[in-house]
Amino acid sequence: MELIDTHCHLTFDGLIQDIDGVVARSKAAGVTGWLTVGTDMQQNRKAVKLADKYENMYAAIGMHPHDAKDLTADTLTELRELAQSKKVVAIGETGLDYHYNFSPQTDQKRAFAAQLTIAKELNLPVIIHCREAFEETMQVLDNHAGRVKKIVFHCFSGSAEQAKIVLDYGFYISFTGVVTFKNAEATRQAARIVPVDRLMLETDCPYMSPEPMRKQKINEPALMLHTAEYLAELKGMAPTDFADAVTATSKAFFGLS
Ligand SMILES: [Zn+2]
Ligand SMILES: [Zn+2]
Repeated sequence: MELIDTHCHLTFDGLIQDIDGVVARSKAAGVTGWLTVGTDMQQNRKAVKLADKYENMYAAIGMHPHDAKDLTADTLTELRELAQSKKVVAIGETGLDYHYNFSPQTDQKRAFAAQLTIAKELNLPVIIHCREAFEETMQVLDNHAGRVKKIVFHCFSGSAEQAKIVLDYGFYISFTGVVTFKNAEATRQAARIVPVDRLMLETDCPYMSPEPMRKQKINEPALMLHTAEYLAELKGMAPTDFADAVTATSKAFFGLS
């Protein structure tokens, strides 16, 4: 089995200190590719550096909605430059988070739109973070996503109706271990309707360990195997067939070899 963790934060505390161990355990579990995602300029620089060091490790760079208030003209210039590094395969994560509102909503929308523009210019896919802001996110995409190559809604926690809207736009959906949680019936309903050629897997580690490892405080890519097996069963597929399908989807989406 060969799986790709399409959204992890390997530069974050708890993972970076033991990165060689994290990578080794991941490979042993069949998770042999990683996309480490930056959330602010400091993490973006770290992500690009880390990805340079490991085979099959790639980076996405962006300003998380939490940090949108820090996106200045200078950071945008740096983001655009850094995005042209060899191992950068996507812009993000970017989007809207109206659950926490750590940045004012006007800043979040401005930063989101600016990053869509960079993705358009550089012809890169975009990783969307959307929490309690579905309609507003779709509105920004309507206005600014015109020629963006590909879009994925990460850590999808919306309803089946929302998943259908996302699919109708031609976008992709990626699921974390949340789909294995007892109280996540709505997310499971959504997962049922996403075809494997539009579905990707991620850990979003160090957060959100899947069942039955939910008690493990620091999630890591090796644990994605549980999410993969869970979703394969939900979809009535053999785990290897499911893994092959979503890995092919992920490689095509991010242009990985
Ligand atoms: Zn996110
Ligand atoms: Zn994330």
